[in-house]
Amino acid sequence: MSDILSEIKPKIASIVSEDSFKTWIEPLSFIDLTNQNCRIGVPNAFFRDWVSENFEPIIVTLLKDVTKDDVRIEYVLRKDEKVEEKKVVARKQATRNQFNPKYTFENFVVGTSNQFANAACLAVSTNPGKTYNPLFIYGGVGLGKTHLLNAVGNFLVKHGTINPDRICYITAETFTNELINSIRYEKMDDFRNRFRKMDIILIDDIQFIAGKERTQAEFFHTFNTLYDNMKQIVVTSDKFPRDIENFEERLKSRFEWGLVADIQSPDIETKVAILNKKAEAEKINLPLDVAFFIANNSEDSIRSLEGTLIRVGAYASLNNIPITTDLVKQIMSHVIKDKNKEITIDMILKEVCSHFSVTLGDIRSSKRIKSIMIPRQVAMYLSRKMTDSSLVSIGEKLGGKDHATVLHSIKKIDGELNVKKELKSTVEKIVQRLKST
Ligand code: ADP
Ligand code: MG
Repeated sequence: MSDILSEIKPKIASIVSEDSFKTWIEPLSFIDLTNQNCRIGVPNAFFRDWVSENFEPIIVTLLKDVTKDDVRIEYVLRKDEKVEEKKVVARKQATRNQFNPKYTFENFVVGTSNQFANAACLAVSTNPGKTYNPLFIYGGVGLGKTHLLNAVGNFLVKHGTINPDRICYITAETFTNELINSIRYEKMDDFRNRFRKMDIILIDDIQFIAGKERTQAEFFHTFNTLYDNMKQIVVTSDKFPRDIENFEERLKSRFEWGLVADIQSPDIETKVAILNKKAEAEKINLPLDVAFFIANNSEDSIRSLEGTLIRVGAYASLNNIPITTDLVKQIMSHVIKDKNKEITIDMILKEVCSHFSVTLGDIRSSKRIKSIMIPRQVAMYLSRKMTDSSLVSIGEKLGGKDHATVLHSIKKIDGELNVKKELKSTVEKIVQRLKST
């Protein structure tokens, strides 16, 4: 079968920057195309996520041009490189810079939302182990935590302050996996020594070890050894230490020994500055009014902001048209609709009834049969989450229930969503439908 990926690569090259092309597109390999399913080989999971988030729309569009079909992409981790990767780990990442070269301080746009975290990371980079230890950075998804952690690593490597072999960047997930493997293969001593002889350890997404007792215990000891030897520790998390659930108290309190810095959602100006910087790097001609429009209509995540820009840039370039607000409206229509559409209790009731095949009368009745109570509670829950209605008015719409009943139902569903997968997917489906109608 012909390698259609090679066919479209030159086209991708004409759309994305040379840098992006070399880093992300060139290494992709074609495996096969069957039943509109195109399998593409990627070197690792990080790569897969990045490509899928940033370049998939371009790839899909171009594949459609060639095959005249809607093609799905499936990413396959290449085996050979999995082995290679392991070898690299075994060599303790001695050969190459383990940090993402794009995640530097120079590429990090500073605004009010992140200046504190940025300054703290810079301070730690220039004076590791001596200023703020540990440094704990927290903030929502896609706001730049991983970027900053890598920036610290890149800085230290570039300035030669610390032997690169003694800098460790690791996600809490990898830490956990390696711990499990070490236990299984009775290599705990190696595991401990590896971390304990580091000069600096950068741990990403520490919330991942919540609820994992053994990992927390091991991390606690690693932490203590490093801390006692005045080695720098930087940790990121999606929450403030005290708000991480199922997390040992002794770890939470240690995280607060040093400095805790947050990253807030970016304001419009920061979003625009990020868009401009990224557009420049990707050679996308982005007018200022369009940048403001995207910033005003996007989520807070900078990752999704970047994704939108890449998509818009690709579309404009493929069709050889300038980037305008109208074009963005067209491409972002689903996102914008999500944001602005008003959802009412009546709409929710209608969707819930149709999903569970119950009547409005049933839902508004006081029948206490499970098959009716659950839809009723879901309707109350969604009414609270998706509209501005008060408990009292939700109760009224649902056949005159009092506010305590409504509150109880909402809390019940809220709690169950964390444990009942099926319920969660049901609720998500209904939300999806409400947003798309
Ligand atoms: P998190 O780890 O907090 O989920 P990331 O660090 O992965 O977020 O950031 C998501 C994307 O947004 C990355 O591509 C990153 O480079 C970019 N990004 C985040 N904050 C900034 C910023 N202030 N300036 C430039 N790019 C940023
Ligand atoms: Mg991250």
